[in-house]
Amino acid sequence: MFYLLNILIQMKILLNNTSLFKSLRPFNDLGFVPTMGGIHKGHLSLINKSKKLCKKTIVSIFLNPKQFNNKKDLKSYPRNIKNDLIILKKTKKVDFVYLPKFKDIYKNNKESKITLNKKDKILCAKFRKGHFEGVLDVMNILTKIIKPNKIFMGEKDFQQLYLVKKFLEKKYPTKIIACKTIRDKNKVALSSRNVLLKKSNLYKAGKIYKKLVNIKKNTNNKKNIFNFLIKQKKQLEINYKIKIDYLELRNKKNLKYTKKIINSRLFVSYYLNKIRLIDNI
Ligand code: AMP
Repeated sequence: MFYLLNILIQMKILLNNTSLFKSLRPFNDLGFVPTMGGIHKGHLSLINKSKKLCKKTIVSIFLNPKQFNNKKDLKSYPRNIKNDLIILKKTKKVDFVYLPKFKDIYKNNKESKITLNKKDKILCAKFRKGHFEGVLDVMNILTKIIKPNKIFMGEKDFQQLYLVKKFLEKKYPTKIIACKTIRDKNKVALSSRNVLLKKSNLYKAGKIYKKLVNIKKNTNNKKNIFNFLIKQKKQLEINYKIKIDYLELRNKKNLKYTKKIINSRLFVSYYLNKIRLIDNI
């Protein structure tokens, strides 16, 4: 109880929509950082940017069941609200933390009608059926409720950032601000799920990252990049004993396949000991 009171001194915790509406009413320059908890330095970099660009910053923690296509993944997703609140308070940069319940988000939402275009059913959308529909659904509702000026999102989840930006900026006056991927000392992209990995696997992920950087460089002088990447994918699977969902070079503006390194990202998703990691380089 003491920890909660202590946190309340500088950072207001909003436990339902009534308190959210009341608290946010006076403010019209709001920066919003949506999260699913398991707060780490990647999330904190988004908060830092919001603090720089907006008068007030609101962080949400909501583990959105609708975007999990795998029940086991949802069950094992790291959650520790108490610890998250302590970290957020320490930043002294967060004005509000919104901790909605399922009904706060979905009470007035009839069955979601959000669907993806065929051309967007690539990368993670191909391997995680219904995932981005769930993400767009919750981001739509959160934006409607919070009405932020800016939403801060990480490039680590590049396809999510791309789809959310396209969807929300058409519908609301809100701007989506892209933030760089924050990495650990071995260059592994920080992620809440990383706590589920053993140290040895995190080390392996660091080696894989370095290998991917090299692969991307080497695409430069290849006649058939597509075939080159298929071969590299197989080789990585054998050498590191991992299962790779995709390894694809795409244009970062429209996510179409590309043969040029310029304006491209090498997108990867793979399983390390049943934990699915994504990155883009
Ligand atoms: P999550 O809690 O995983 O849903 O992430 C919430 C937000 O933090 C999303 O916009 C993510 O893209 C962003 N994020 C997660 N990890 C990182 C990271 N390593 N660097 C920058 N942003 C990140």
